[in-house]
Amino acid sequence: MAINEETKIDSNNEEQASGHQEVGHKSLLQSDALYQYILETSVYPREPTPMKELREITAKHPMNVMATSADEGQFLNMLLKLVNAKNTMEIGVFTGYSLLATALALPEDGKILAMDINRDDYELGRPIIEKAGVAHKIDFKEGPAMPVLDEMIVDGKYHGTYDFIFVDADKDNYINYHKRLVDLVKVGGLIGYDNTLWNGPVAAPPDAPMAKYVSYYRDFVLEFNKALAADPRIEICMLPVGDGITLCRRIN
Ligand code: SAM
Ligand code: CA
Repeated sequence: MAINEETKIDSNNEEQASGHQEVGHKSLLQSDALYQYILETSVYPREPTPMKELREITAKHPMNVMATSADEGQFLNMLLKLVNAKNTMEIGVFTGYSLLATALALPEDGKILAMDINRDDYELGRPIIEKAGVAHKIDFKEGPAMPVLDEMIVDGKYHGTYDFIFVDADKDNYINYHKRLVDLVKVGGLIGYDNTLWNGPVAAPPDAPMAKYVSYYRDFVLEFNKALAADPRIEICMLPVGDGITLCRRIN
């Protein structure tokens, strides 16, 4: 949909009228109604029951804003099938919505190395993942991802072995993750970096008012997006799904 000034004005009015409600933070679309339409027409009717259950449990979590949105979950699930992913990694699990979307997409012998500094949130989703019959694909490691990646790099046998890697964790480390992940992903494999549009302020003037944490991470996201665009080892595609996901395909 083309976004013109009229649409923006309409959406502003709508935003004021609706208070931007619960869907506002989940999409960069200029109208909540349009986003709701996508969810109701094409996402919720096809959302697997375990994903719905996990989404509903996560909605009660005080930090539910961190969860992957249902439309992005559907996108990841299809993307993984399209690239025939088998060996995958996820950095930043939270309660496991994107992890479950991944696990459901992989073949029976597919694998996900899943890392998060917080096991408690993962424990909320784990019973649903088990009930869905896909827990055997997941190797969850509690703790910061960086030392694990460093060990894998030193070890040497993991180079060029990953079909797909999803990064949805500490944005100030994305550039450091990328330095390692570009070696670990296969040539022809994909890395997806989440939140690369940082809810919109990446395009705001530097003096625009924004919350402290938004402005702090924004600087890292801006630098990271520039670095990806200049990296000759990958092809990139930035998609306005969820909060923005940049897909990187390793080419050498
Ligand atoms: N992908 C998740 C989903 O679908 O709901 C959302 C992940 S949430 C946005 C970010 C997660 O990154 C949090 O659970 C946080 O504990 C984790 N995290 C933060 N720093 C990390 C680090 N250094 N290593 C691993 N995980 C980290
Ligand atoms: Ca995210």
